[in-house]
Amino acid sequence: MKRSGPFLLLVPLLFVVAFVMTILLLLQPPPTGACGVAGEPIGPATGNLGGVSGTGITAAELATVRSSPLARNNSFTEGVFHSTAYGPPWGVDPQSGVDQGAGIATAAGLRLNGGAPRKYFVATDPAVISSGQWLYIWPNPFQWRGAFLAADTGSAINGRDIDFYDWRGRSFQLAWSKPVTVSRAPMSGLGPGPADMQPGAFAPPLATTPTAPPAAAATGPVLNLGDSLAVGSGPELERKLTGRTVTTLAARDRTSAQGLSILRGVSTVPSTIVVQLGTNDSDVSAFRANVRSIVAVARLASAKVWWVNISRPVLNGTSASELNAVLTAEAARQDNLQIIDWKAAVAAATVQLSDGVHPTAAGYEKRATLIADALAGADSTLGACASAAPGSLGELAGSPEQIVNGVVEYAHANGFPNVTVESVRVANAAHSVQTTSGNTSDHKGPPDFAWAADISNGNAPTPQMDALAATIAGAFSIPWQGSGLVSAGNAEYRLQLIYRTCGGGDHWNHIHFGVKKVFFLIIRRTGSSTPRPC
Ligand SMILES: [Zn+2]
Repeated sequence: MKRSGPFLLLVPLLFVVAFVMTILLLLQPPPTGACGVAGEPIGPATGNLGGVSGTGITAAELATVRSSPLARNNSFTEGVFHSTAYGPPWGVDPQSGVDQGAGIATAAGLRLNGGAPRKYFVATDPAVISSGQWLYIWPNPFQWRGAFLAADTGSAINGRDIDFYDWRGRSFQLAWSKPVTVSRAPMSGLGPGPADMQPGAFAPPLATTPTAPPAAAATGPVLNLGDSLAVGSGPELERKLTGRTVTTLAARDRTSAQGLSILRGVSTVPSTIVVQLGTNDSDVSAFRANVRSIVAVARLASAKVWWVNISRPVLNGTSASELNAVLTAEAARQDNLQIIDWKAAVAAATVQLSDGVHPTAAGYEKRATLIADALAGADSTLGACASAAPGSLGELAGSPEQIVNGVVEYAHANGFPNVTVESVRVANAAHSVQTTSGNTSDHKGPPDFAWAADISNGNAPTPQMDALAATIAGAFSIPWQGSGLVSAGNAEYRLQLIYRTCGGGDHWNHIHFGVKKVFFLIIRRTGSSTPRPC
């Protein structure tokens, strides 16, 4: 074929245009569900990684991530996100001073063991995309057309942030920072990936209940704390729990608030606490706060709470079911709280109530049997709680709220009588969402992910605040020099202690203690405390 001159000149020009178009297509986030290129794959396909549909993640690892509390909310948000990348080498980066953590496991429990395995997963804000969700992201650092698993979180990953785990090292990680489109379904034009990549095709259902709670020791002393029902069942309980010392601290008409203050006064809290309270309560919100405080006091003592639920007529407009719903919800998120189902025993007519509240002698015998059977079924270990010395702070286990509540209960007993689990909850609800640096404040939760308390007993620093800050720092191994903003923790939790400083907002006259679940943590020591109020 004969070609004219101008046509020959056009050929290279068309190549240039096609090349530029291709680059633009690679860089631009495609509109969800309507990407421009059909049929042909974009970019080189990544080889088979094994694991679940080529992601390098095994079915067992997926199950682990989906059993994490971070998977519980089932959140998913589509659209444009901002993305960055992180990963090995682990430890403190000599260039930036940023600590990437030890790389042992992601926040949702995916084990990396300090290595650099080739896996497609990302860190997300679990309030926006829960751990355990599959998501399709384009573009991405690997030109991977299959799904990524949300399996991690990070202290700097808030809202519409995506952090790609990139095993290839720092130069790749630093080179990546750009907007991406996130979709729940495969994006058309990108190819669906392997057929079994479809979310849900192979995956076990999301965990809706927490893993089995650790149980208290089946031996050792027992504290029986409660109202008239604890008075009535006390002697039978002592008889049934042979070989165990049962101390009954009970009185009729006692409320959960009174029971809490009695528990706070117990000098040596045993590892098993039976609570028989709530029958005389009618304020649901106060009851919830008291349950949380009692569980927090128990946690401080590495103790487990066995709470007998409630069967009684409506009191001041509040039904037993409302209070039992609080107990059920708290037990689902507190691994040292277990419910003993008295309500079901009454409903099944296996016991008779003489006055709608108090059982007959045979009923008390049945109630004591229920309690004793529950305690006898306990394992001989207390799980995570067992590692903490009785009565000490500093246990990094459970949810951020549980860790913070332990500090709050300690503070309440050591010079801060006005600071309670309930006062912190109320303050956090009213707290601003963003920090001075624009991140979501730990105060805003959700409590399984992040929680914080502001603790103060004066308008200026006091000796009690100085002492408490030092105690918290010592208990949690936070490098503390009397003032400033210090972040510390481990590969699972980012702790933050702020006091006597204007850094990060006005923290001159109160101690801020915050805990957040993370994977990689940023150690930031700001010694810029100024010797004056902000
Ligand atoms: Zn604060």
